[in-house]
Amino acid sequence: MADVRTDIIAIGSLAANPYWGEKTPVRREYATATLVRSGEVRLVVDPGWPAEVLRAALWYRAGLEPAAVTHVFLTHFDPAHFGGIDLFEGAAWSMYEEEIRFARAEADADGLGGRVLKRVRPAPERFADGVDLFPTFGPSPGHSSLLVYTALVSTVVAGDIVLSGDHFDRGSLGEGPWDLERAKESFQDVIEVADLIIPGHDNVVVCRAGGGLA
Ligand SMILES: [Zn+2]
Repeated sequence: MADVRTDIIAIGSLAANPYWGEKTPVRREYATATLVRSGEVRLVVDPGWPAEVLRAALWYRAGLEPAAVTHVFLTHFDPAHFGGIDLFEGAAWSMYEEEIRFARAEADADGLGGRVLKRVRPAPERFADGVDLFPTFGPSPGHSSLLVYTALVSTVVAGDIVLSGDHFDRGSLGEGPWDLERAKESFQDVIEVADLIIPGHDNVVVCRAGGGLA
């Protein structure tokens, strides 16, 4: 097994966390940005924070310049998950194929979103040894997580199928997933396979669910 490692570069935020008593947005929402390294691949998942924040975080957390990043993967099409993507101009940008199709059909193609949709390509099933696509439909039509695994530990870089530690603890899928039933199935898939989960908008959580929602 190649050396595979996963580092959270910048922990994300929710505009309103209902479990903190917040019913309306009180802050900017950013996705958790994660760096996954395997062999020659240096992959950033969900670069939602502003580019300058990501540049500093990447240096402070991993000692890397943006040019060292070879791939960017978006779990789904949402500015909170790609707002800083321009920092990685030299990387290959990808998203799950169905998500690209849906976003191209539905989304407003102006500005950064439009450029992302023009440039993004269907993600491979496997980015590198120990780094596989892990589709988790439900939050959006082609939402996909990443499964990063070594002989010892499986980590799911979850995107919005697990929004935060608070949501995970309660088995909550948030306010309005695109398809709640599919989201429930995907959530179940994640907790069956993961030892560690990196939520879409929070720090890592340990998964001790042992195969199911209570
Ligand atoms: Zn999100």
